[in-house]
Amino acid sequence: MRNWMRACFEARSENESLARMMAAGFFSALNPTLSEITDVKTAVSEAVTNAIIHGYEGKGGTVQLYCAYDEEKLYVEVADQGIGIKDIPQALEPLYTSKPEMERSGMGFTIMETFMDGMRVESRPGEGTRIYMEK
Ligand code: ATP
Ligand code: MG
Repeated sequence: MRNWMRACFEARSENESLARMMAAGFFSALNPTLSEITDVKTAVSEAVTNAIIHGYEGKGGTVQLYCAYDEEKLYVEVADQGIGIKDIPQALEPLYTSKPEMERSGMGFTIMETFMDGMRVESRPGEGTRIYMEK
């Protein structure tokens, strides 16, 4: 791994843009195209939003962001120690949301998969969730 950064912040919606900007700032050293940087920011945004509203159910907690790159790829991880996901395959289905009353569209994971080249979810109920992405 050539370069990396790690940050943690309170699970509040104000910090979504902070997380997006930290990732964009860190990866700017790679001279990415505008569309590459937009893709990463969008994916980070979706993962951080999920940690805030699903992981911690809006009650707050700590979100961790890890970004790294080597000669081949860039890597992003977003983690929370919230409620976790019981059924990961179901959560990954396009249009599945556990919060339809909050006007969620159930597209967050699909967006992460589309905008990044790889995405993996690790989660345990009661322990939390970690999203691994690479591009
Ligand atoms: P949208 O992202 O379109 O606003 P959404 O957040 O419900 O809607 P996804 O981001 O695809 O859709 O997530 C699907 C489901 O996975 C969520 O509804 C939630 O039940 C679960 N989930 C996602 N991230 C987490 C997390 N960090 N902790 C707990 N549950 C999660
Ligand atoms: Mg979502």
